[in-house]
Amino acid sequence: AAKEAGEPFRWYDPELDRSAGEDARIGAELRTALDAGHLRLVYQPIVELPTGRLIAVEALVRWHHPERGLISPAEFVPVAERDGTIVELGAWILHEACRQAAIWRTGDDTDAPQRVSVNVSARQLARPGFAETVRAALTGNGLPAAALTIEVTETAVFEGGRSLETLHTLNEMGVRIALDDFGTGHSSLTLLQTVPAHALKVDKSFVDHVTAGGRPAVIAATLIKVADGLGMAAVAEGVETAEQAAELHRLGYQLAQGYYFGRPAENPVVVRQRQPAAIP
Ligand code: C2E
Ligand code: CA
Ligand code: CA
Ligand code: CA
Repeated sequence: AAKEAGEPFRWYDPELDRSAGEDARIGAELRTALDAGHLRLVYQPIVELPTGRLIAVEALVRWHHPERGLISPAEFVPVAERDGTIVELGAWILHEACRQAAIWRTGDDTDAPQRVSVNVSARQLARPGFAETVRAALTGNGLPAAALTIEVTETAVFEGGRSLETLHTLNEMGVRIALDDFGTGHSSLTLLQTVPAHALKVDKSFVDHVTAGGRPAVIAATLIKVADGLGMAAVAEGVETAEQAAELHRLGYQLAQGYYFGRPAENPVVVRQRQPAAIP
């Protein structure tokens, strides 16, 4: 399993305001890229603490541009969101992630991921047909609904349209829902009352400082209690060090994700797995 290639190439200056014309050009290129097979998914491990056992993977999209090299989703997903390409792109991502997950689940490798998380953006979620797109991806690939988690951000849920209604439909279908980048939006706690969510993904900004004490550490310690109290799972995002992993475990976190455990890859590998016997 190849480690992910180096830092994605920056093809425009993010400081510059791009024109609508430029967005349209990137959107058109993106559609061509999709047809040409230049978009790929990589998968990052979500592990159990403290063993590092693989629980699930998060699918993350990559654009391998023939001239510009690897382009980060942080650059093209927002453009695709603005010009609407995300609807087509997102449907492909869902289908592809479900296809791969079904292969892993039915294969011989007992260490293969059994569950997959897919990021869904505001515009996708707000579309009337979204729940049907998910259903088609599941049935078309023979993947049970419980093997799929949809990751949505707080802002996406509040985008309006049918977002909330759709989340309820997905929940009834048996699909799991995770609130992504939790704690960075503006109404996180309100959201917990209305969204049928199964998991909180505690944002990296809290995890980064969890060993330093101070406010981020207090927030990380509080969010795990909130999740526990609501019967939800909590995933600590962006774990990069053994110290962070140990502290998160001490706080009560049972799930984590980050470079420390494994980078996104076409064939994800947990690099810091421990045998239960080795745990002090
Ligand atoms: P996200 O959903 O919060 O995904 C986590 C991001 O953090 C990923 O960046 C991942 O590679 C990175 N990451 C994971 N562990 C670590 C760590 O330990 N340290 C550091 N520094 N970073 C870590 P990536 O793949 O560049 O994706 C960026 C964002 O682009 C995602 O943030 C998500 O919002 C969006 N995105 C990615 N793939 C998709 C997709 O398929 N659909 C949609 N709608 N959005 C996507
Ligand atoms: Ca995510
Ligand atoms: Ca996140
Ligand atoms: Ca993020």
